[in-house]
Order: sequence, then structure tokens, then C-alpha cells
Amino acid sequence: MSDSTNFLSRRNFLKTAGIKTAGIAGMGTLIAPVLSQAASKTDQPSQAGDQSTQTDKPLEKMPTRRFGRTGVDVSILGLGCMFDVVSNQLMLKQALKWGVNYWDTADCYSGGNSEKGMGKFFSKYPETRKEVFLVTKSCARSNDGMTRLLNQSFERMKTDYIDLYFAHGIKDISEVNDDTRRWVEDAKKAGKIKYFGFSTHSNMEKCMMAASKMEWIDGIMMTYNYRIMHTSAMKEAVAACTEAGIGLTAMKTQGLGQAANSDTETHLQMVDRFMKLGYTDMQARLKLVWENPQIASLASQMPNMTILAANTAAALNSTRISKVEERLTRQYAMETSCDYCRGCTDICESALNSKVPVGDVMRCLMYSRQYQDRELARSVFYQIPEEIRNSMAGVDYSRAERDCPHNMAIATLIRDAVEELV
Ligand code: SF4
Repeated sequence: MSDSTNFLSRRNFLKTAGIKTAGIAGMGTLIAPVLSQAASKTDQPSQAGDQSTQTDKPLEKMPTRRFGRTGVDVSILGLGCMFDVVSNQLMLKQALKWGVNYWDTADCYSGGNSEKGMGKFFSKYPETRKEVFLVTKSCARSNDGMTRLLNQSFERMKTDYIDLYFAHGIKDISEVNDDTRRWVEDAKKAGKIKYFGFSTHSNMEKCMMAASKMEWIDGIMMTYNYRIMHTSAMKEAVAACTEAGIGLTAMKTQGLGQAANSDTETHLQMVDRFMKLGYTDMQARLKLVWENPQIASLASQMPNMTILAANTAAALNSTRISKVEERLTRQYAMETSCDYCRGCTDICESALNSKVPVGDVMRCLMYSRQYQDRELARSVFYQIPEEIRNSMAGVDYSRAERDCPHNMAIATLIRDAVEELV
């Protein structure tokens, strides 16, 4: 997967960053110092971790936060690696140099090339393994399946332990049960994993509340952004997990939705204010998440140096988001509420006579329309069983639409997805 086809291409990044209102000169001031370091390091490759080259002026230190009860301090900016890391080794090297030590991958990312890329890097720079808080995820749920995939992750990543191992994308807490707990205890005893938890972008709040009562869950990665973080359900879930000592990682932090275009007057005002404060709309969305100290880290997809530099600059920038900007973001979230699926799939999926995974389809549409990554969108879309895929355009969604608290045009969006992704 190349930079040009991946997630937020530079062109799209600049567009989304608010160039419409601030111009490219304004953008330069936001990331230029970090990028110039990147360029000099790119021109003169050095050993990872080597801070002694002439161009390596020390950066301010990347802030860290304690990851729940684990006692481990992790960088507040995590390197999301849902891309081909085999052909993109520089990102790992540069991330580490800038103090981004939380690395997030999964067995299924980029057809395995995310984990394999990490293995390539650790083989070349074995001393860096201990600097990294390595997170990977298993799509399996059975204990045998988890063992097989954990061994596969070891083989691919050239490591014999994982810092944090997640059950990938649970929709219901029953997906991690007493059987899983026994597997976790054995894996920890054998030194194969240090911590365990799950990731979730469906019914997050319910899964988190239930996990707060399960003392063997150490960490959770959940959808968390300016659209979701202020709801009472999410606030309660975050508080319960924090109280229980569960480390929290935010993902899908940009709050990108399903509509092809969600521009409003409020959005333009918001972008303008952010640019005047010295950061872009996208940087501001990360900063909004960091405003909550209960979130230890956020996993941000950073497939190219522009995004890594911009996000690193945002993490190092101590300017706070003011109440005015926060109000604007809330207003924008309200105005575009029907453009963003919040993953409350228990509501709409139970209102259907068919097993259409509405939340997954919405996510595919987001990957396709917002990340502009059709390949990723299609790879997730084609995990849906063929029979359901082929029939979902004809399903009656009227009750699901009535029940959806955010008035999403579910039927139209599902049909759009079928048309765009098949
Ligand atoms: S379509 Fe509506 S009800 Fe279904 S998950 Fe999305 S926001 Fe929730």
C-alpha cells in the first residue's frame, strides 16, 4: 500500500488541514521544524536510536502517560500501523527517534505486512525491541485460534513476547470469557504476553463497563473522539475503567464519518480558529482527545512522514484547546450527527430481519470515503459472508432507521457501500 493510496494522502491531509482558510504558508509553520529534521535524517540514514548526528537537534520530549495499573509509561501518541510496514521502515525508525514508543498493529493489517514490517525492523535493530510498547491483536476468539495467531505474530515480528495483546474488535463482552481468561493467565505465566485486553468499535461503552468488573483486563482500545467523548455513557465507561486500573487507548480519533462531504459554516470557523492558534483541524482533534488525562495514548494511523511529523508536533505543542474551540467542535458534531456512525450496533442490528453488520459496513464506507483507502475498505467489506453481502442492498432498514438515535440514512448508506465497494 503506497502513500499515495493510503489513508490521508498529503493532498488530502493539506485539504483537510484547513488550507482553504489559512493557505499553505500557514501550514508550513505547523510542521516545518519537525519535517526538516525528518528530511535531514532521511538523507543521512543512521542507526535507530542514534541521537548523535549533527542534524539531530534534540526535540522536546514526547509526553508519556501511565498505562493503567501496568506501571508502564507510554507515549501519548501511538503509531497506528494499518499499512504495509515492510516497505515503509523509515516510519518506525523516525517514530522511535521522536519518542513514539507505543506501536499498534494486528494480525490482519495489510495482509500481514504490518507485523512482518515490524519483524524486519526488529531483525535489523534488535536493541530497539525493548524500547517499544508493542501492541498486536488477534482476530481469533477460541483459545486454539489465539495460540496459533500469537505464534504467527511472534514469527512475523521476530519477537518472543507482546507487551499488550488484544482480542480484535469485539462487539460484545461475551467474546472474552472465562476460557479466554484461562488462556491469558497461561500466556502471561509463560512470558508470552505482558498484558491483555480488547479493541472495540461497536457497543464500546457497554463492553468497557463490563470490562471494568473483570480484573484480568489490562487495556482497552476504543473508538474515542470529539463526537463521542462528551456523552454521559462514554464518560461513565472511561471513569469506570480508569477506576479499575485499565489502560485506555483512543482510536478513530478524527471522528470521520460516512458522508462524502460534511462541511458546514461551523467547520470553517473551527478550522480558522485552530489555524490561528497554530495547529490544523486534524491536529486539534488529537489535542481534544489528549485533553482527557484518563486516556493514556491514542493510536493514529501514520503511514507517511507528513502525518507523523504533524502529529508529533501536535503532541509536543502545549497550547490548550480553549472552551470556545471546544464549543465549536461540539456544535459541529451536533450539526453533522447523522453523518457519523457511533457504533451503537446493538440498536440497529437488532432491528433487522437479516444479519447485516451495519457498523462494519459504515466503517468500510468511512475507509473508502474519508481515508480514501478503497483497498482497506474492500478488504473489510469482503470479510462479510458472501450471502449477506449479496443480499444487504435489498434488506428493509426502515425499523433500524427509526431506532437509530442519530437519524442515519442506513438504507441509502448500505446501498452506497454495496455500489462503491463491490
Ligand atoms: S447506524 Fe445508527 S444505530 Fe446503527 S450503529 Fe450507527 S449510529 Fe448506531
